Amino acid sequence: MPEGDTVYNTARVIERGLLGEVLTRSDFRVPQLATTDLSGFTVAESASRGKHLLLRLTRGEKRFTLHSHLRMEGAWRTYRPGERWNGRPAHLIRVALHSRKAVAVGYHLHEVALFPTAEESKLDYLGPDLLGADWDPDEAARRLAAQPDVTIAEALLDQRNLAGVGNLYKAETLFLRGVWPWRPVREVDDLHGMVTLAQKLVANNKGRWTQTTTGSLRRGETSYVYGRKAQPCRRCGTAIRKAELGERVTYWCPFCQPETPKD
Ligand SMILES: [Zn+2]
Repeated sequence: MPEGDTVYNTARVIERGLLGEVLTRSDFRVPQLATTDLSGFTVAESASRGKHLLLRLTRGEKRFTLHSHLRMEGAWRTYRPGERWNGRPAHLIRVALHSRKAVAVGYHLHEVALFPTAEESKLDYLGPDLLGADWDPDEAARRLAAQPDVTIAEALLDQRNLAGVGNLYKAETLFLRGVWPWRPVREVDDLHGMVTLAQKLVANNKGRWTQTTTGSLRRGETSYVYGRKAQPCRRCGTAIRKAELGERVTYWCPFCQPETPKD
């Protein structure tokens, strides 16, 4: 599940392969960039902002940003020149960036766009980035509180409130805070505690691909409720439930996250 940590880790993968390298060839397989040629550009920075990947390229005075979004299935892989690209089926390739040292291949990407780096300000609608140097829990909590009637589950997923939480961390954060996912934001006691915990869960998985919220990296033990429909709650044994909420599904424990809060 590509969430903030996955995107952050992906930025590091591209960084290791291409940072400081001059591109010798680019191959875009998205219509809007089919004729774009990035050869001669240097990869100056590989960054993430929430779930958005930003590859910053320079050539002389020119500064461009290659934007991509992983959504549910997207991924970037790097290969040595001449190495077989075995990450995903070839028809999913959206872009390949070649240098003497490495080739970075983007699979199943969304929102692939190239624009002047100055226009990154178009992403300023995003809330505080959980993994950004400027992470600001007060601001994230303030933005959540500004939508009092929205369910807390949907508010946590709204990237305008805080950037980097996806469905996994949403469900896990709500479980650990004991909050029913349908509770409106105005009825959630401690929004600051909520966003602080979400940030911690995401940050704990920086630098590894296995996403865990329980501390265990063993298969089947990495979450409390996410993906565990009908399995016993790790705390109380009640069967975990799954239902649609807004445009996504959510998982929760009806005992640990009661509809009517326990006093
Ligand atoms: Zn429970």
